[in-house]
Amino acid sequence: MSEVNKLIKLAIVLPCYNEEEILEFSAKLLEQKITELINKNKISNESLICFVDDGSRDTTWKIIEDLSTKNHFTGIKLATNFGHQNAIYAGMMIMKDHADCLITIDADLQDDINVFEDMIDAHENGSMIVYGVRDNRELDSYFKRITAQGFYKLMQLMKVKSVYNHADFRFIDSRVIEELVKFKEVSLFLRGIFPIIGFNSTNVYYQRKIRVAGETKYPLRKMLSFAWNGITSFSTAPLRFIFYIGIIMFLISISFGIWVAIAAFTGESVKGWASSLLVNLIFSGINMICLGIIGEYIGKIYQEVKQRPRYIIDKILK
Ligand code: UDP
Ligand code: MG
Repeated sequence: MSEVNKLIKLAIVLPCYNEEEILEFSAKLLEQKITELINKNKISNESLICFVDDGSRDTTWKIIEDLSTKNHFTGIKLATNFGHQNAIYAGMMIMKDHADCLITIDADLQDDINVFEDMIDAHENGSMIVYGVRDNRELDSYFKRITAQGFYKLMQLMKVKSVYNHADFRFIDSRVIEELVKFKEVSLFLRGIFPIIGFNSTNVYYQRKIRVAGETKYPLRKMLSFAWNGITSFSTAPLRFIFYIGIIMFLISISFGIWVAIAAFTGESVKGWASSLLVNLIFSGINMICLGIIGEYIGKIYQEVKQRPRYIIDKILK
């Protein structure tokens, strides 16, 4: 086999939602990087940069179409906004048939494209998945740092298999994507799925940068709902937790009941409006929370049984 034949064909998949302000900047950096890797004989000359337009309402798709006239660039347009995870998933599903390996990275390039080479080297050394891990969050706001780290700690506590400080920046051999297809869940949380698939994996470390232009698509509300989705998709620990609360409450009720009975028999029962109301309120409050948690899981089952498509493609360029 000639040297050229051995080079991997890489496809970089970038989800984009209303990213008109940053797309050209990112495309330029990616083009430079891919040319550098081709010149270093790390990847094949046919490698691709694929932008997935996740139903943007600005000129994102127009920019992607313009870019696709250049070598290496291509694009997929989803029929509407399916969300970050589904956009990455759609990109991976299409590109796995056109490349040996994929890299998924956010379109704002806050994750460091300079570790692409380390990822490719790790793959050459036998890793099928290479996780990009943030080893430094100095540039994140204090709030983002605390909430993000709290989230990873919570995932560990719930025994969800995940890579600490890794988001959706990863290198994947297309062979792994063939296995990903077997995971049928509609509500996707990719960073929880890849560690379950297995295969040899490694981490590469980098510093996460600030967003150069445009604004975050993950305000606090979306971040919390994403985190909760991750937990409920991979762990039933909250259900077990409320079962434990139930046991504790039951034990408290028994002791309370004994005390009430004794007080009644000895004629010392108090005419307590406040105390009985308080107990009532506490117990019904806890009950409501527990029902809410069960409801969340029922909602999840409801969404899953419908088996709606994770994405719908409008157009694929080239
Ligand atoms: N994104 C997407 N669909 C959405 C929301 C976000 O494809 O519904 C993309 C977005 O364009 C970006 C990536 O997901 O490429 C991550 O979003 P962002 O950078 O705003 O998140 P942050 O880095 O602030 O957590
Ligand atoms: Mg970002």
